[in-house]
Parts: sequence; C-alpha cells; structure tokens
Amino acid sequence: MAKKLGEYKRKRDFEETPEPSGNGDSGGQPGGRFVVHEHHARSLHWDLRLERDGVLVSWAIPKGIPPDPKTNHLAVHVEDHPIEYIDFKGEIPEGNYGAGEVKIWDQGTYDVLKWRDKEVMVVFHGERLQGKYVLFPTKGKNWMIHRMDPPADEGREPMPRDIKPMMARLAERVPDKENEWGYEVKWDGVRAIAYIEGGRVRLQNRNMRDITQQYPELRELGRAVGARELVLDGEVIAFDEEGRPSFGRLQHRMHLASESAVRRRMSDIPVVYAIFDVLYLDGRVTIRLPYEERRGLLDELELRGSHWQTPSWHRGEGKALLDAAREQGLEGIVAKKLDSPYEPGRRSVCWRKIKAVQRQELVVGGYMPGEGGRTGRVGSLCVGYYNMTRAEAEERGEEQRLIYAGNVGTGFKEADLVKLGKLLEPLRRDTSPFAGRQPKKGAVFAEPQLVVEVEFLMWTRTNTLRAPSFKGLRDDKDPRDVVIEKPDVA
Ligand code: MN
Repeated sequence: MAKKLGEYKRKRDFEETPEPSGNGDSGGQPGGRFVVHEHHARSLHWDLRLERDGVLVSWAIPKGIPPDPKTNHLAVHVEDHPIEYIDFKGEIPEGNYGAGEVKIWDQGTYDVLKWRDKEVMVVFHGERLQGKYVLFPTKGKNWMIHRMDPPADEGREPMPRDIKPMMARLAERVPDKENEWGYEVKWDGVRAIAYIEGGRVRLQNRNMRDITQQYPELRELGRAVGARELVLDGEVIAFDEEGRPSFGRLQHRMHLASESAVRRRMSDIPVVYAIFDVLYLDGRVTIRLPYEERRGLLDELELRGSHWQTPSWHRGEGKALLDAAREQGLEGIVAKKLDSPYEPGRRSVCWRKIKAVQRQELVVGGYMPGEGGRTGRVGSLCVGYYNMTRAEAEERGEEQRLIYAGNVGTGFKEADLVKLGKLLEPLRRDTSPFAGRQPKKGAVFAEPQLVVEVEFLMWTRTNTLRAPSFKGLRDDKDPRDVVIEKPDVA
C-alpha cells in the first residue's frame, strides 16, 4: 500500500495542496467505485480513477471518455491515487504538481469483467458514464480507452467535418416582411468554423484551411466548453482604438507564419471570436433546425469569455439595427430568415447582408508608380473583378475575363505600401491582365494573384468603383472567385 502511493506522495507537498495525503483511512472497501475528474491543469484533461486493492488506479485522458465506439481515446496510465481522492475537488495552487481546478465530472460504481496487466474491461454505472469499456496499453504508459457498447445516446450523430460556411447574398435593403427575419451585426473579420471536442478547439476558415495556430487565445474556449461537443460558426475579429471591428488590424494577425510571431502580436492585437450559430451540439447535428431554434440553443450555451462572445441578435427591427450600424461605423447587418435551416456552402437567399457602406474584394492586376511622397513605391492599385466565377466559366466552357474596375489610391498605411510593393514585385508582367478597358498609361502590370478588400461609395453605371479606399489584403479568397457583388435580392 505505502509503496503503491510512493509516486503520488513524492510529487506533492501536502503543506501546500489541499489534495488528500493518503495517510488516512483507506476506507477498506472492496473495489467497485469510480470517479472521473475534470482537471483544468495547464492542459485540460479528464482523470479516470478505479477503486482497486485499496488505491485508485488512474489514467489521464486528454480528450475525455469516448462516447462512441468509433473513436478511441488516449489514456495515459498515471500513478495510483489514495482512496480518499475519490471525493476530492478543489483548486490545486499555482506552482504545485497538477496546479489548476479539479472538478468531479462523474462518480459511481463499476463491475470488473477482466483485470489483467494488458487489459482492463469494466462496466460503468455512473450518472453520465454508463456502459462497457476496455482499456489496453499500446506503448509504455500510453493506453487506449475504447467503448464496447453502442453509444449511450442511441440517436447520437458523429461530429460533422469540413463544413463550408453558409453565405449571405448582398441585398439593397432590409427585407419587406421585417418580422420574419432575425438581424445581426455584420462582423468585419475572418469567418471561422470552430470544432470543439475533448476541450480542444479546431478552427477552419472558409477555404477549409486550419487556422487554429493563428489564434491561440481561442484555446481557452475549449477549456470553457469542457466535455461538451460543439461546432460553432462565427467571425474572428480584431478591434481598432475606438473599439470598432477592424479588418485592417486583423491583417496583422492573419498573415503571421510562425508561432513566435503570433505570440508577440497577441498582446497588442488580441482577437475575439463572435459566435453566431451552432451547427452541432452534444451528438446532434443542428443544421436542419430553423435559425430561430439554433439561436435559442446557442444563447443557452452562454458562450462569453475573455476572447469569445455571443453577440445579441434582434427579431425584426432590422431598419433600426442598420441605422445603429451606420452610426457606429460598422460594415452593415445580416438578415437571417427565422424559419431557415443552415445551408453549408450556399450563398442563400435566406441570409442577406445589407451594407452600411459598400465593400468587396477585388483582384490586383497592377499599380501606378507613386509620385511626390510615394516616389519609388506603389501609388495606387489597379483593381478588377472577373466577369464570371470560375465555376460558371467551367460550366459554360468559357474563359474568365478580368475587368478593370478603377484605381485604389487611399486608405493605405505606410506599411501597407511597403508590403504591397514586395508582394507585387515577383508578380510583374509585361502585358495587361485586364480584358477590354485598361488603366491609364504608365501602369505596371502584375499577375492577378493578390486579393484586396476595398470600401467604396457605389458602382458607377459602367461598373467602376466610386471613391474606393483600401481596407486590407485577403488571403482567404481565390482571385478567380472575385466577381462584382451587386445586390441580387431586393
Ligand atoms: Mn490530472
């Protein structure tokens, strides 16, 4: 007994930690109880402890107990714990072994079916944890835990992967039947779907690229969600000095390649994940539910923390929200039909964006060299859009044509000009990439590979930009998909 708890005791200072010392009464019961601790240590994990021969035989399970026989989870065999630990919960102070909060996730009894060095097969009778499981070693201290019974929840659906975000159509104004719609602020950032399981968050952008490493502050969201399983839809945003979402500021976070660069930028440009939809919730795919119901489920989750928010939505009152957005200098609003399902990857008429100012992505096809203060650098960008999307062109068997839309000469910061110059240099070419009308003489042409976000007053009758201003570079958009975005729903 003393030997069994040797490692447990060696790792802990019982003057410091409130955890049991293991010197007390061991209970003397014949095995049969279990506990699963949810341990918010440096890395969130769950500890499974089985009462056996006067101690708690323990495994640390990074992703928690698997609810489904389809996925096995790693279970690291750790030192035996004293029997009294079965009721332990509390805060292990900073600086101690396993510092962080310990909660009881579940408790109950279990039956032993097999107990050998290489196989532990048990049936749990807990409140949350029930059913037949087997634990078996794979390498050294690493074991796996596998559920042998069918999922406890019979209707359980696996978490969907690679969901393409649903998109909104650009609309001129708030829909006529204002009360059949819900309204949200349109956030000016990067769209991201968050897959959360076992306390871990994985973020994917609309190109299916994994952007988890880009935003380490969102790891905390996983810890906050704990053992729940969620797929969320939202927008990663950064704020400017006035507290407005700023795509320009987010630029400084979007393009960082190394982890150390991300860490350095995190403190001066923190991000917030604005969550506006829930697509999967604890074993249920929710995309078929009407928007209103999904929003209800999302609001009940109360996801609100240091780096994530669930901004409020409004039933009806679209015009009022649009006015408020305009006043606060926000990009616009999104109207979502109350009874509409989530349509992955579709630009649906059931979601409509109504802009306070016009804004869209354009492709850079060249630049005018700077004059005066900008001599030797980019003066303005020659931008354009394709006459049809790549998919449309393939369908019709036609070539896409890049149409010149005008020059963007304002909205740049010093650093933007330097960066654009560097990016455009290797893309230089002798001929114009634009079909039809051309920029004025003296333009330096470039392969149409860069996509920029531009704000402007309106499209002219001949489809050029009026009063455009640069908002930032986009690397989450394929230039071949950049077409003119005109309101297509009234
Ligand atoms: Mn632990």
